[in-house]
Amino acid sequence: MAKMMAVVKTKPEPGAEILDVEVPKPGPDEVLVKVLATSICGTDLHIYEWNDWAKHRIKNLPQIMGHELCGEVVELGSNVKNIKQSDIISAETHIACGYCFQCRTGLAHICQNGKIFGVDINGVFAEYAIVPAANAWILEKKIPKDFASVMEPLGNAIHTALAGEIAGNTVLITGCGPIGLMSIAVCRLSGATNIIATEINDFRIQLAKKLGADLVLNPKEDNVVKIVKERTDNLGVDVVLEMSGNPKAILDAFRVLRSGGRYSILGIPDKRLKIDLGADIIFKYITVQGINGRLMFSTWYKTSRFLSSGRLDIEPIITHRFRLAEFEKGMELMKNGNCGKVLLYP
Ligand code: NAD
Ligand code: ZN
Repeated sequence: MAKMMAVVKTKPEPGAEILDVEVPKPGPDEVLVKVLATSICGTDLHIYEWNDWAKHRIKNLPQIMGHELCGEVVELGSNVKNIKQSDIISAETHIACGYCFQCRTGLAHICQNGKIFGVDINGVFAEYAIVPAANAWILEKKIPKDFASVMEPLGNAIHTALAGEIAGNTVLITGCGPIGLMSIAVCRLSGATNIIATEINDFRIQLAKKLGADLVLNPKEDNVVKIVKERTDNLGVDVVLEMSGNPKAILDAFRVLRSGGRYSILGIPDKRLKIDLGADIIFKYITVQGINGRLMFSTWYKTSRFLSSGRLDIEPIITHRFRLAEFEKGMELMKNGNCGKVLLYP
């Protein structure tokens, strides 16, 4: 049996191990890919650190970590017709059942029986990985492999930003982690006329400026509510894209969204929040929109087109590159936040 290197979560405690494991065989509806690049997501850090969410969510140890990838197809399952050997792919990480109500009504990204790579089944921090054919996204060759690896979180940014009108609008983006940073680039390209971002980490504040935010505020030093009002003629912004998951950022954004505006929330708070439904939502006549994953697969078409057009430059967001064996360096950076996207190469 051929062996490969993989980053494996072996025990229900902090950490992960590099192990030699068997190269998996694709099932009839799956493909085997050689991983060319993979990237670290906040979810991977949660699993690595074994936080409360991971303790409750992760059921099948040992399990290979990771879910973002660019790979080359090296073996096809017997039923696979739409993919060829040597195709270069990225992958949608939500694996949908195909038969529940949501799947059958165009909402496969919130499938009732959905599974996620590296969370519910073996992931992609390895030399080879299994991808269900239905989840593979065949890439145009001109999309660089590093961009392909981050198409999944870029899809989160595009799904959130373009869930409503952006052109000619003023936008507040709260939180400039990798997805908030990507949202700045997407909003600029999509014609937002004023992009205000908030972030508390200096490294990411600099990145947000580099990506073209018109104003970047640090809530630890700046009065966000007052300044955003001033910068929008006291009206408030047309759109809020919540990308921090921070309770104060979430609640303050209600104060600065104009009446009749759109509030799209991707960030996930780790506790319940108290919201004044009447004052913050009903009388303001705002639309609050929860955003989960990416639309399957209309977001992927948009993401591909943005990248292959060459117009969306996300290069500044990829700040660190390591060998897969050095994954712990990447986890450390993700923990302190002095990074954009961290890439790993097997
Ligand atoms: P991240 O944790 O890297 O980014 C969050 C950023 O918010 C950090 O840079 C942090 O410094 C900043 N922040 C913290 N407190 C803040 C405050 N008070 N004001 C402004 N910024 C503040 O995460 P990410 O990978 O960029 O993802 C963004 C959010 O989206 C996270 O909450 C993540 O869990 C969530 N997420 C949701 C989905 C979904 O499908 N809904 C998918 C992916 C990620
Ligand atoms: Zn389903």
